Amino acid sequence: MAERLPLVVANWKLNGDKVLLAEMIDALQAFESNEVETVVCPPFVYLNENTNGVKKGAQNIAEVESGAFTGEVSGRMLRDVGCQFVIIGHSERRAMYGETDAVVAKKVLATLHAGLVPIICVGESEQQREDEETIAVISKQIRAVLDDLPSYSDSLVFAYEPIWAIGTGKTATTEQAEEVHAEIRKVLASYNQELAQETRILYGGSVKPDNSKELFSSDNIDGGLIGGASLDVESFTTICKNAVA
Ligand code: PEP
Repeated sequence: MAERLPLVVANWKLNGDKVLLAEMIDALQAFESNEVETVVCPPFVYLNENTNGVKKGAQNIAEVESGAFTGEVSGRMLRDVGCQFVIIGHSERRAMYGETDAVVAKKVLATLHAGLVPIICVGESEQQREDEETIAVISKQIRAVLDDLPSYSDSLVFAYEPIWAIGTGKTATTEQAEEVHAEIRKVLASYNQELAQETRILYGGSVKPDNSKELFSSDNIDGGLIGGASLDVESFTTICKNAVA
């Protein structure tokens, strides 16, 4: 079994400020562990802040590198300010900003082209789960990305985020999450058997200090994408600690 370094990512969405960022950076520096990788994704405007070596990521990226695209931020610009990761295809962007699988695929290519790591979000709605379509929905979302890549990249990260669990307080049980993560790895393995074992698959959806340890102890859950709980320094650092085996 491949050793996968756990990854815990803070997705601040449209929240936070400079003060919270400074507090989070201090706490993550104090925590510093080589057994878990941690990343903070604040809104774009804070990405230029000095994070003293704490890794940072963006919550979005332009499909293109430059040009007349008012309001967009390119991968080259993100790299320029020291960004290393980009969250792509979050269900909020799919639902509120019309990001289709095709757009997500283009953004993944733009991210890789800029030398950044895409964190590709996939997940089903409550209705799709009730209709037993979870695996079909997720496979389609993953294949849309992988079919467009010239070859499987070892820097891909996936995040399974059931839509019904995001910001709702409803977490998938560890068994529910593990079942989907194992299926995701099977889909990845159909593209590249070896690299699929090295690809990190994060779980996201109401992860909190008290449910994170159990989730992260599951075989195919390699860390988390954390929304609400990442806005509290103590909660987020506890979740990061819980990712250490
Ligand atoms: C998210 O939006 O990526 C997320 C997982 O949010 P929350 O942790 O608040 O459910």
